[in-house]
Amino acid sequence: MSATQQEPGTAYGLYIDGQHVQARTGETMTSVNPATGRPWYTLANAGAEDVDAAVRSARAALSAREWRDMKPLDRARLLRRVADGVARRADQLAVLETTDNGKLIREMRAQMRALPSLWEYYAGWADKVHGSVVPTDPATLTYLRREPVGVVAVVVPWNSPLAIASTKIAPALATGNTVVVKPSEHTTASMMEFVAILEEAGLPAGVVNVVTGAGSSAGHALVAHPDVDLITFTGGTETGRAIARIAADRPIRSVLELGGKSPNIVFADADLDRALPGLVAGIFAACGQTCVAGSRAFVQRPIYDEVLSRLEERTRRMRLGDPLSEDTDIGPVAFEGQMARVLEYIDVGRHDGGTVRVGGARAVDGDLADGYFVEPTIFEGVRNDSRLAREEVFGPVLAVMPFDDDDDVVAAANDSLFGLAAGVWTTSLSRAHRMAHRLDAGTVWVNTYRALSPTTPFGGFKASGYGKESGQESIAEYTRVKTVWLDLSDDAPADALVMRR
Ligand code: NDP
Repeated sequence: MSATQQEPGTAYGLYIDGQHVQARTGETMTSVNPATGRPWYTLANAGAEDVDAAVRSARAALSAREWRDMKPLDRARLLRRVADGVARRADQLAVLETTDNGKLIREMRAQMRALPSLWEYYAGWADKVHGSVVPTDPATLTYLRREPVGVVAVVVPWNSPLAIASTKIAPALATGNTVVVKPSEHTTASMMEFVAILEEAGLPAGVVNVVTGAGSSAGHALVAHPDVDLITFTGGTETGRAIARIAADRPIRSVLELGGKSPNIVFADADLDRALPGLVAGIFAACGQTCVAGSRAFVQRPIYDEVLSRLEERTRRMRLGDPLSEDTDIGPVAFEGQMARVLEYIDVGRHDGGTVRVGGARAVDGDLADGYFVEPTIFEGVRNDSRLAREEVFGPVLAVMPFDDDDDVVAAANDSLFGLAAGVWTTSLSRAHRMAHRLDAGTVWVNTYRALSPTTPFGGFKASGYGKESGQESIAEYTRVKTVWLDLSDDAPADALVMRR
């Protein structure tokens, strides 16, 4: 990656069949640095023909069988080289992503430095996707093969562009699939730079292709392409619903990692010195733009006033500013439209009877006025059935609500369309487990929040989607099981445990 590639003026094309090409549409879009409001590169806006070329390339790479039939140990080595490439460029990739989506350099650097372990984890899987032999009859050999699903469409959002894309691309590659990726139009740079790492690692042309541009055109054309075998998507619930309908029509498989409205629950017996930073980071890290944001804080009544005032005090101390600065605590929202959406939700919260304890407006002091900064905002007096408590804001907005006991908070926490994640802060071991069992969420954190690992499955319940990412469970998403029957008898056909269909 050359230094100049991070300068304004870079023009990214598409990556199809191992080549950087211009979009046949000839259209481009501009990515804006959310901290300054200034454009800093252009990207190709792919049309249906471009997407078709990318899917054909992925199909051809699958049919050529070089990739899917590569010796598993060789595939593992190649994925390890990808891990090494990411490790070498982690800090540069972090700068790119921070400039693209405004998340703090501290956060992005940590994420990029952790990313090689995800690629290593899936390199480890490449030679461990076993089939099995199923007992039927001594005269019959019946075995199961796990095969790649085929051409995988990967559609990812702007909040953690390369990390989220990697949670999909790495297992897809480890299991022999080929891929077409569509990054968000707001954060295309890191994916376009990442393809150089894939090339250096020796990935055959066509195994990974990248189409860029608008979700409604390039994204739609990809998920609706008749030659895609699996769609894996992270993003908003509305887009997820539309994709699920398209997948159901074909019908093909889909993996959907959608939104959340996660409860972060503080019991009176909690260690507040841990719980308070957990609440603050749970919502304000990434400027609230994570699917697992702990956007509903439930605090047990005896400590409610104390927690609220300590939260308020901590939040007031947060420094808004340049996300590339090590001293900044909260950066801008990723793009102008997202800022407008967050500010609208703050209005909705007020209108529905909530009281703003801190924040509540766009931040416009000095240089901040050029970017898309929203003050970290805490509401109280928000009803759990109001829009602010039910809909995903995807911004730095926290609703704090009191509760009385376990039953009360379980009912309120689970009274949500979503079921992605939940946090529990308590020093009672039995309560910790009771809550973990009763909460309707794909992940429950106790005395921690936002912890993720390549080794643990992640994915939501209810409107937060379906399918699992990471961990052993993700391997099943990217493989299909084939049953093979073999009659071992020399003469008469074996009469196995057969129910002929
Ligand atoms: P989207 O769901 O629209 O975007 C996610 C990805 O899907 C992007 O690459 C987008 O492209 C693409 N896309 C958009 N429309 C289509 C389509 N019809 N077919 C195929 N791909 C499509 O999220 P938004 O950026 O619009 O954010 C809306 C809300 O979604 C957020 O405010 C937040 O609530 C939620 N969200 C949740 C995320 C999560 O991690 N769970 C991540 C991002 C958003 P493009 O960006 O180019 O439009």
